[in-house]
Amino acid sequence: HPDDRDRIEAALQQETQGENFDQEYRYTRPNGENCWLRSQAFPIKNDTGDIVRVVGTVEDISDRKRVEDERKQTEAALRDSEERFRRAFDNAPIGMSLISLTGQFLKVNACYCNLVEYTEEELFKLTFQELTHPADLAEDVEGIRQMLVGEIRSFQMEKRYITKQGAIVPVLMNTAPISDLGGQPLYFVEHIQDIRDRLKVERMKDEFISVVSHELRTPLTSIRGSIGILESGIFNDRPEKAKQMLKIALNNSDRLVRLVNDILDLERLESGKVQLVMEQCQVASLMQQAIDGVQAIADQSAITLSLTSLSATLWAAPDAIIQALINLLSNALKFSSSGDTIWLTAEMQQGEAAEIESRTSKVRRNFKPNTQNSILFSITDQGRGIPADKLELIFEQFQQVDVSDSREKGGTGLGLAICKNIVQQHGGKIWVESTLGKGSTFCFALPLIG
Ligand code: ADP
Repeated sequence: HPDDRDRIEAALQQETQGENFDQEYRYTRPNGENCWLRSQAFPIKNDTGDIVRVVGTVEDISDRKRVEDERKQTEAALRDSEERFRRAFDNAPIGMSLISLTGQFLKVNACYCNLVEYTEEELFKLTFQELTHPADLAEDVEGIRQMLVGEIRSFQMEKRYITKQGAIVPVLMNTAPISDLGGQPLYFVEHIQDIRDRLKVERMKDEFISVVSHELRTPLTSIRGSIGILESGIFNDRPEKAKQMLKIALNNSDRLVRLVNDILDLERLESGKVQLVMEQCQVASLMQQAIDGVQAIADQSAITLSLTSLSATLWAAPDAIIQALINLLSNALKFSSSGDTIWLTAEMQQGEAAEIESRTSKVRRNFKPNTQNSILFSITDQGRGIPADKLELIFEQFQQVDVSDSREKGGTGLGLAICKNIVQQHGGKIWVESTLGKGSTFCFALPLIG
């Protein structure tokens, strides 16, 4: 066989020098078929030490070679599959471990180590019991007992692990015993998944539902109360009082409608259900439309709206920006007194060095949405101002400076959360600067894209 020829010729050469010959090689038969041979030979020398003959045997080892080849292939396939499995285990995006029947860690992957903040070597010296939050241990041990006696095939629980740094990490754990061919359990395979984010979202959802139901129940109770009084007939001969009751019911119905609308708006924005449709918009036109939306209320309260417009084009969702501007203008109106002025301005911010000077607080702040130019909108009022510790909080849902604000000013506590969401969806930033007793400036900057 051409592949074996050089090797065999070299060995034959050695043989002529007096060395023994022992080689395995392929031979090609006249029919083209290859067979494996083992050839052993040794030289016979005469009295003077010259080689006079070579004696040897040739044996057909094709069968043995075939068996050997098959074994090698099987071994390679096994190594391959072991390697694939090892990589799948090591790189799995969830924590995986093998744990002995007594709880010792036998094998852990990188994700597992990251989660519990121990290295692989450290974990090998530990048991899962030592990492488990004491309050979760009994349930875990009971699950393992049930698996070992065959009552259940696998076991799942939400439990807490304590990390090396002492932090408590909630995880979703799935575990099952791995048994030998005779069904005898050898060890456990365990998956753990970090559920911190999920629990946080669940907590926020619970809080949101409890706040929303409280917010909805308040106007509903008023409506039910005033209608109940009307129905009882005690104001049948006092039309003025009856009208008052009707007005309470009407006001609270309006509030309920506002609340539901705001909640729906916010939900739609946050869930991303409504994709904001961006288009080229004239900044001046957006501002004018926002002013038009609140002009009547301003006139009613004798409040002046002062507009400093800007001739620029913005890539934005026009309705959403107008809604944000109207929310901020409505807030400014709510907190202004007759004779006050509200300023709505827009200015171009140049690149990174964009710097904003608050008209009211004279506090200089650096604002860097990114390296692009941006347009800065600001709405300034001469109202009561906002305490420093509430400047960020009021952008969260249902957060108000004063609990009476929603009742007295007719707000829902959602307006600013909606504004924040709209601005963030445009890649911008929103904030407020304020001096108590003097007024507030709400600013938002939108990057100029495209
Ligand atoms: P609301 O519907 O209650 O106005 P917002 O989210 O719009 O909800 O505002 C949250 C709170 O922020 C208000 O209840 C009020 O306490 C405070 N706030 C908002 N705008 C102003 C402003 N221009 N001046 C003073 N306080 C304000």
